[in-house]
Amino acid sequence: MSNLTNILPLKLWFTDLELESPVIIAGPCSAETEQQVLSTAIQLDKTDKVKIFRAGVWKPRTRPGSFEGKGEEALKWLQKVKHETNLITCVEVASPEHVELAIKYGVDILWIGARTVANPFAIQALADTLKNYDIPVMIKNPINPDIELWQGAIERINRAGINKIAAIHRGFYPFEKTNLRNIPKWEIPIELKTRFNNLPIIGDPSHISGSTEYIKDISQKGLDLNFDGLMIETHINPKEALSDAKQQLTPSELSDLISKLHFRADNTVNNIAEIELLREQIDSVDNQMLELLAKRMDIIEKIGNYKKKNDIAVFQLRRWEKIISSRKKFGKDLGLDKEFIKKILQLIHKESIMRQNKLMN
Ligand code: PEP
Ligand code: MN
Repeated sequence: MSNLTNILPLKLWFTDLELESPVIIAGPCSAETEQQVLSTAIQLDKTDKVKIFRAGVWKPRTRPGSFEGKGEEALKWLQKVKHETNLITCVEVASPEHVELAIKYGVDILWIGARTVANPFAIQALADTLKNYDIPVMIKNPINPDIELWQGAIERINRAGINKIAAIHRGFYPFEKTNLRNIPKWEIPIELKTRFNNLPIIGDPSHISGSTEYIKDISQKGLDLNFDGLMIETHINPKEALSDAKQQLTPSELSDLISKLHFRADNTVNNIAEIELLREQIDSVDNQMLELLAKRMDIIEKIGNYKKKNDIAVFQLRRWEKIISSRKKFGKDLGLDKEFIKKILQLIHKESIMRQNKLMN
């Protein structure tokens, strides 16, 4: 358990803001126009299920040339949201200047995005500015599955005197092709929860899913793990969204989805049996193994096509011997039994040969 004791218990910091757990945060990926922001917020407010309105005002885009947000102008639209609805507001900040501006315009909660959390210099600069303020800060997991980096960001913000902190689980960049935009790796937020007393965790099923189709299942999974809230991207007209169009729901779709979720009365992490947490880890590892196997088969097919074009035999004894001996050594160093490794490789190799034979004939 981390010795950070001054993280305010969820109950207290939620009570301050008149929030209940689990809290629903919704709103567009990006604030695009005043009309889009206000109409989305008004409809979300009417559902009576959403308490916090999110919107990206400065957008961290992977490639240049994409929509980068409306900046300060959009903060004025968020002020109007507060004025015209019961919602409180949150925005992403990535620099000291963002923090100052967000606070100047009365934003209630800040969040730090996945790309920023990956950079300790950027986090320290934010922490140095936050020393002067008392505002809740939500910290997303870094893009890469490094729990130390996530914990480090939480610690830096906490040491700046911020005690209203939440973590947001938005999944991790997949190195293999997967159905989801980001791999959840549920074992990581579970571990984080055991490292910090009182730390609320908010699920971000939108960025894990990458499309609307998996949002419900990922949301339910978060609730089943006793997450303290969900952040779900919502847009008045998702098809026209300037960022993350595929993963945004309309306010009425969101309302419908929430009514289908199962909210349990009390299953604090301590009440979730240890075996369930371990099973979560097994599920996650198995899925990653299957994704790797699928990737291996893709490569096998590419080699198969090459062999066909160049008239090379499918089975190459030398290559096979080399695979067995090098993998046995690699696996043994990892503590795996040599015979076990051989059996698995034989199965995989058989399947690979079969696929290539199919291609050839
Ligand atoms: C976002 O919330 O729109 C966002 C940019 O998320 P992330 O930092 O998780 O990619
Ligand atoms: Mn987004």
